[in-house]
Amino acid sequence: MKISLLIPFYNEEQQIPLTLATVMPILESTGHEFELVLVDDGSRDLTWQAISLASQEDRRIHGIRFSRNFGKEAAICAALDAATGDAVVLMDGDLQHPPQHIPDMVRLWESGFEVVEGVKVTRGKESLGSRLNAQVFYGLFRWFSGYDLRNASDFKLLDRRVVQEWRRLGEHDTFFRGLSAWLGFKRTTFPFEVAARQVGGSRWSIFKLMGLSINAITSFSVMPLQFISVLGALMLTGSVLLAIQTLVNWFSGHAASGFTTVILLQLLIGGSLMLSLGLIGIYIARIFTEVKGRPRYIVGATTDPAPTPDAHD
Ligand code: UDP
Ligand code: MG
Repeated sequence: MKISLLIPFYNEEQQIPLTLATVMPILESTGHEFELVLVDDGSRDLTWQAISLASQEDRRIHGIRFSRNFGKEAAICAALDAATGDAVVLMDGDLQHPPQHIPDMVRLWESGFEVVEGVKVTRGKESLGSRLNAQVFYGLFRWFSGYDLRNASDFKLLDRRVVQEWRRLGEHDTFFRGLSAWLGFKRTTFPFEVAARQVGGSRWSIFKLMGLSINAITSFSVMPLQFISVLGALMLTGSVLLAIQTLVNWFSGHAASGFTTVILLQLLIGGSLMLSLGLIGIYIARIFTEVKGRPRYIVGATTDPAPTPDAHD
């Protein structure tokens, strides 16, 4: 049986030797044959040089370089497309997903589980902004889609069969955490502590995170759209009640007064209309990017020579 370890890297030149030195002996200890698929997500530093060097020294290491930064989700897709193992393990390149858990994950897989998921016990050191973003996002995600992904992570082992099903997913914008839950299969979880990052800080900006959140929610649920109709219905009911009150007042001799009410109503209705239009816009934008059918990522280089029909290994 062969294990594939998949790791995305973005501007991690200093981190790579550290990560590989940690991960290699652990993989050896599982007693399985293994390979590493390292994706350079269009880094601007010497990440690619570090990956190519490693792959020259050890033929079990395969590198894929993107033509530019496509984001971690795309890097995960590329690694899943390239992996050849009977089980694949996905982890962050910064060792925040402690690789010491890999042998246990493999054991759970051997005992029959097809998806083994890491669940964060603590979220580790994070900025207040990203913590808040995570809170709001997971709350909304659970509410809209029904999947509780709080403390879920991308630290996962997937059986070959799950990876095959993943490859059939058609969407351009993926959300690994949610989609791997959607795929189903026999799953189990294990708790892990998020380790501290040794080199540099998080590679995510708060805008990237917010983008991911909006993508994730709108790709999993159309509830926000239905919510607009509910809002409309509520407003209509309100205005009918208001109209009745106004008419009663008019017939009983008091003319309806209050310019303030008019302005307030205008603002309220104007605001909700704009919000609703924006929401519809987000979905249309998603349809637009999906319908264009562009590839999820573009590979600029790989460490493996392109296979030729009569190549022998
Ligand atoms: N990463 C990536 N592309 C990006 C951003 C991040 O491949 O555009 C990689 C990064 O190199 C790391 C992993 O994704 O291996 C997790 O990133 P990071 O540690 O910055 O995220 P956090 O731990 O803050 O969630
Ligand atoms: Mg990290």
